[in-house]
Amino acid sequence: MKVVAKRSTMEKIVRDFRASGKKVGFVPTMGFLHDGHLSLIHRARKENDVVIASIFVNPTQFAPHEDFAEYPRDFKRDHQLLKNSVDYLFLPERSQIYREDEKVTFQLKDITANLCGFSRPDHFAGVALVVAKLFQIIRPHRAYFGQKDFQQTVVVKHLIDDLFFDTKLVVCPTVREVDGLALSSRNIYLTAHQRKLAPYLYQALRLGLKLFRAGEKKPEVIIRKMQNFLKEKGLKEIDYIDIRDAMDLTEIKTTPKQKIVLALAAFLGKTRLIDNIIFDPHEA
Ligand code: AMP
Repeated sequence: MKVVAKRSTMEKIVRDFRASGKKVGFVPTMGFLHDGHLSLIHRARKENDVVIASIFVNPTQFAPHEDFAEYPRDFKRDHQLLKNSVDYLFLPERSQIYREDEKVTFQLKDITANLCGFSRPDHFAGVALVVAKLFQIIRPHRAYFGQKDFQQTVVVKHLIDDLFFDTKLVVCPTVREVDGLALSSRNIYLTAHQRKLAPYLYQALRLGLKLFRAGEKKPEVIIRKMQNFLKEKGLKEIDYIDIRDAMDLTEIKTTPKQKIVLALAAFLGKTRLIDNIIFDPHEA
C-alpha cells in the first residue's frame, strides 16, 4: 500500500490507471477503521483492479457543537488494517481538500429535510461537498458506501446522477456485532452501561419489521411501539424513528410498491448512534 498525501499525486496515479483500462474502486472513510469499513474494502477488492481508500475526517460535515475535534483517530492501527488490502491510501491534509475562503457549498432538496438531516441540517451538504471533491480527484469507476449511513447513500446517488459522475455507487450491507449493534467508529465512546443498552436499537428495528409483517401498516403505530420499547429498555433520548420510502425518503401513506427504510437515531449520553433496516413491503 502506498500512502498518498497530495491531491496532484493522487490525480496522476488514477489518470494513469484509467488510461491503461484498469478499473478503480474507491472506499472513502473517516478512519478509526472497523470490520464495517473492511467489508467495503473487501468488496471493492473483488470487483476492481485497483483499490483506493481514503481517510479524511471532513470538517464541513460536523456542526460546531459536534464531535469533530474528539472524533476518534488512530492512524497506526488504520495503516496496519489497510496495508495488505488496498493499493493506495489517500490521506490528505485539510488544505489538500479545502482551499482558504471557499465560496461553493451544496444545497440538497427534499432528501435531507428528514431523518438525520432534520437534526443535523448542514451535515449532508458537507458530505456532498467532500464526496464530490474526492470523486473529482479519484474519478472512481465504483465507490463503496455502507447501508448503515443510509441517507448518505441516497445523497451520494443523487450527487452522482446530478453532477454526471462516471461512478457506480455500490451500497454494502451493515456489519454488526454478534448482539446486533451496528459497528461504528463512535461505539468507542460508549460506557459499559451504554454498550449494554446499544443493541436495543437494532432490536427496536426488528420489532418494527415484525409488526409490519404481522399486518400493522400504520407507520405511527409502529413508531410508537418502537419508542415504547426503547424507553422501557432505558433508551430515553430518541432523536427520531421513521419509516420512509427507501428510494426517495418520502413519507409512506399507503403500502408502497418500493422498498421501505425503517431508520432511527438515539443518544446514549453524548453519543449519537444510528441504524436502519430496509425491506420489501411485499415479502412475507
Ligand atoms: P465513516 O468512516 O464512518 O465515514 O464510514 C465510512 C464508510 O463505511 C461509510 O460508507 C459508512 O456507511 C461505512 N460503514 C460504517 N459503519 C459500517 C458498518 N457497520 N457496516 C458497513 N459499512 C459501514
